[in-house]
Amino acid sequence: AKFKIKNVLKELGVKNTNEGTSTGKNNFSSSDVSIKSYSPVDGEYIGSVKITTKDDYEKVVETAQNAFKVWRTTPAPLRGEIVRQFGNKLRERKEALGKLVSYEMGKSYQEGLGEVQEMIDICDFAVGLSRQLHGLTMHSERPGHRMYEQYHPLGIVGIISAFNFPVAVWAWNTALAWVCGDVCIWKPSEKTPLTGVACQNIAAEVFADNNLPEGISNVIYGDQHVGGLLTKDVRVPLISATGSTRMGKIVAQDVAARLGKSLLELGGNNAIIVTPDADIKMTVIGAVFGAVGTCGQRCTSTRRLIIHESMYDQVREALVKAYNQLKIGNPLDETNHVGPLIDLAAVKMYENALVAVEKEGGKSVVVGGVLEGQGYEGGCYVKPAIVEAQPHYKMVQHETFAPILYLLRYSGDVSNAIEIQNAVAQGLSSAIMTNNLREAEQFLSVNGSDCGIANVNIGTSGAEIGGAFGGEKETGGGRESGSDAWKVYMRRQTNTINYTTNLPLAQGIKFEL
Ligand code: NAD
Repeated sequence: AKFKIKNVLKELGVKNTNEGTSTGKNNFSSSDVSIKSYSPVDGEYIGSVKITTKDDYEKVVETAQNAFKVWRTTPAPLRGEIVRQFGNKLRERKEALGKLVSYEMGKSYQEGLGEVQEMIDICDFAVGLSRQLHGLTMHSERPGHRMYEQYHPLGIVGIISAFNFPVAVWAWNTALAWVCGDVCIWKPSEKTPLTGVACQNIAAEVFADNNLPEGISNVIYGDQHVGGLLTKDVRVPLISATGSTRMGKIVAQDVAARLGKSLLELGGNNAIIVTPDADIKMTVIGAVFGAVGTCGQRCTSTRRLIIHESMYDQVREALVKAYNQLKIGNPLDETNHVGPLIDLAAVKMYENALVAVEKEGGKSVVVGGVLEGQGYEGGCYVKPAIVEAQPHYKMVQHETFAPILYLLRYSGDVSNAIEIQNAVAQGLSSAIMTNNLREAEQFLSVNGSDCGIANVNIGTSGAEIGGAFGGEKETGGGRESGSDAWKVYMRRQTNTINYTTNLPLAQGIKFEL
């Protein structure tokens, strides 16, 4: 009752109607078609944005191309200074933006704040990076020659993001792309468009304060058709797309057909291996948060527990006890552990998955179901479920974006558990709970986990911005955020300079006139 979305929108400068395509402080639209945003928290209408038309899109690209000419010649450390100011603005708006994320997407307020913190952290990272966009120097095989490499910005980076991290994923991309000298066109998820408006307002303020042109930060709105304008556009050299594997397979082909670059962050099917040497208390906390946090709608959510037979009953009992204590309800009430699913379609998918896995032979240990009654009027609240299953079940192989945790049993050596964990199409996050050095090292070795993220004594869910984030196989192979992920936002050029009066050819080739 204390929560007033109107005040939050006001603080973020988001009008609740007629928001639209933007290249900065400007907001324009030639369309009559709107996307209406409803909160999964209480089913209430929040506001709308206008869908970007082809004409609007052309304006955006033209503005972005012009802005690129200015931005690419702004020294990288100065670009870093702009990103520093952007990070500071995020600090000022952290609570308001965190609330909007929570209300529009349905994750807990704490997790909403966590997302904004991640945006701030990646800005700090990018500021440092702006003085470290290093290339190598090499020794030339020819006398009097010098050889080195340098990184130049690419141009326009297209960012397509998913509903479940409506703001952090944008920042992971933009903060790096901006210090690298690129300009960005973002298409937020059609399920969370208003967080897009709020973020664009913050960025636009910073660029305008510094007398920089419109078009360094751009937002377009719509579904896959608007996304398709970006992915098929040769003027957009890099597409960074986050979402389902289904989407990634289409985007990858669209981008490859024009030989563009793509950075894909797609679905996961993440497992925790629980060995006989696991700390049970840590295992339960890691598994429960991993499975029910964000209502099971994280790409790194824990979907499978692969438990040694000697520990199986003990772990199952501890999980059932923990699940019985879970409080489900309004995510803005900080005493609740689990909020709603994103929409009614997600609820249907969750219900269908539970029916399907039972048909395959799965046995519910904690029974799921859709909640009704006071506080659940929006229809998006469900009970987190635990199902005993077999690794090969179709549903176990599939990413259901909901709080369903599958318990799988292994016997013998840890290599058997690793085999089960790797035997899915996805390869994002993985974890082992063990105090046994041999097991931990085997899990991290070449014979171990095949995922982009492999943790020891930490769950699968959540990651720090300092590391490169992403996964293998159907997760798409992209890496973003920390480490050297910045390199994908730049083009590498190798330069050889001859400071003699001769022209010796490489490989000793003789060519005389
Ligand atoms: P989604 O695939 O339905 O949509 C994601 C985005 O892609 C949206 O903006 C959508 O409009 C756009 N899109 C869809 N089809 C497109 C097309 N053909 N061309 C261009 N754009 C298109 O995903 P979602 O339901 O929003 O998000 C959930 C999925 O995202 C899960 O599978 C989850 O694992 C994944 N995800 C992955 C990561 C990661 O980093 N690996 C992070 C967050 C979410």
